Amino acid sequence: MGKETHILVSGGGIAGNAVALQLVRAGIRTTVVERAGAPRPGGQAVDLRGASREVAERMGLMPGIRDRQLDERGMVYVDRRGRAYARMPADLFGGNGPVADVEITRGDLNEVLLEALGATGGAADYRYGEWIEALTRHDDGVEVRFASGRVETYDLVVGADGVHSATRRLAFGPEERFSTYLGGYTSYFTVPRPDGLEPGWMTMRPASRAVVGLRPDRDPATAKALVILRVPADPALRGDVVAQQQLLRELLADAGWLAPYILEAMPQAPDFYFDELARVDMPNLSAGRIVLSGDAGYCGSPLSGMGTAMALIGAYVLAGELAAAPSDPETALTRYETVLTPLLEQAKQLPGGGLPMMLPATGIGRLLSRTAARIVCARPLRPLTTRMASGAGDCAVPSYPGDATVSSPAP
Ligand SMILES: Cc1cc2nc3c(=O)[nH]c(=O)nc-3n(C[C@H](O)[C@H](O)[C@H](O)COP(=O)(O)OP(=O)(O)OC[C@H]3O[C@@H](n4cnc5c(N)ncnc54)[C@H](O)[C@@H]3O)c2cc1C
Repeated sequence: MGKETHILVSGGGIAGNAVALQLVRAGIRTTVVERAGAPRPGGQAVDLRGASREVAERMGLMPGIRDRQLDERGMVYVDRRGRAYARMPADLFGGNGPVADVEITRGDLNEVLLEALGATGGAADYRYGEWIEALTRHDDGVEVRFASGRVETYDLVVGADGVHSATRRLAFGPEERFSTYLGGYTSYFTVPRPDGLEPGWMTMRPASRAVVGLRPDRDPATAKALVILRVPADPALRGDVVAQQQLLRELLADAGWLAPYILEAMPQAPDFYFDELARVDMPNLSAGRIVLSGDAGYCGSPLSGMGTAMALIGAYVLAGELAAAPSDPETALTRYETVLTPLLEQAKQLPGGGLPMMLPATGIGRLLSRTAARIVCARPLRPLTTRMASGAGDCAVPSYPGDATVSSPAP
């Protein structure tokens, strides 16, 4: 690799767009292929805190993020009649709880990245409706055959094509080898904002086998619905929207609160998203000149609350290392993995014990979970809760030349 280096990024989500942005800023020729015909909308609030916020600052993304920031003041649990029984204000965990001080919807964050890419004067070559069909590794590059029939050779391929990454399958092996099912599914979609919803609060209703909630949206006329289901894995659900929506109807039938309203609005949602909760663990993030970034390489699932943060941090480190050693990708990829690995275990931890704690299987478990939520939120315990949560999400990320802001030293 060197002056004429050409890198292919597969996937135009948060990881793919962030790595492309940093590569073109470093003057590296970059092509991005995204399977969807246009940037994918959708997703609800994602958190930026600690290191990911620092990285967003260094990438110069904060002005765009601030413009689109959500007004989310905290989370409230309600019962089937909509009566609040526990309330977690955003500052309860010192900014490290379920609501961070910087919240932006995933779609809006993607828009910020695409705007920043636009400001580079279209330096990256974007191809929507395109994807990789075959990869052939050579010592000094990768030959790629695309769905369109094109065949091209790149110095390096970045697989940023999400939790079900095709790049990972082609270069490392079948998904089952690296992915662990975490016991359920999650769904996000936009609905018209119902009357009576408390402004600025994420409202959650834990039912018997599902949690359903509504989060504030930037548009005051809409809200972001979220559902988390606890069910065994069913491969037939993948890609079958009718079956996915039928399952949501079944599991929310007894939920009460605004569940019937949310289910009625669901088929009209412009951005219905449904996927399994899975964790991805790779023995290595690269194989020759093919490297993984974001969920493709280290998904902790939306339950970890760190997917977007890690996508941003990982993309920043990968591009920084490649730009620092353009003629030595082997060293760059080794450095990328060395810097990232210590951060991944912490990032993949599931707060509060994951799905079994969030959605206990028995009535007594649900009662205990509800009592625990009340205790954690109780006013006399708030200073202790804040102290116990402090530090989560903090980590040292090296800085690279070209940062908009540099405030932490290289390790
Ligand atoms: C529509 C959508 C909504 C989401 N909403 C939330 C949310 O509300 N909360 C949350 O915690 N997480 C959400 N996620 C997951 C979250 O975006 C990721 O965990 C995190 O941002 C890491 O992003 P990523 O770029 O690695 O993966 P992703 O965001 O999944 O992006 C991967 C991109 O690759 C594209 N792609 C897939 N296969 C191919 C292929 N073969 N070739 C080329 N391109 C391909 C996809 O279309 C997608 O644009 C959502 C993901 C999507 C796609």
